[in-house]
Amino acid sequence: MPGTVGRLITVVIMIFGVTLFLNLAKALLAPSKVRFPCPVCALQRHDVDAVHCKACGTVLNIPDEGMD
Ligand SMILES: [Zn+2]
Repeated sequence: MPGTVGRLITVVIMIFGVTLFLNLAKALLAPSKVRFPCPVCALQRHDVDAVHCKACGTVLNIPDEGMD
């Protein structure tokens, strides 16, 4: 039944589009902070490009996703 297949494809494309849109919205709304526990003071949130802990100054080794 071509009609059913067509509807199925439409649904799949729709789900794909919604997922894409949600990912985009998440990327736009996400705060520019990264969750990484400081080994000394256990501060969790740091700037994505942080080198030192904001609270205690310890050198952090935050894994960089290299988005740029
Ligand atoms: Zn710290």
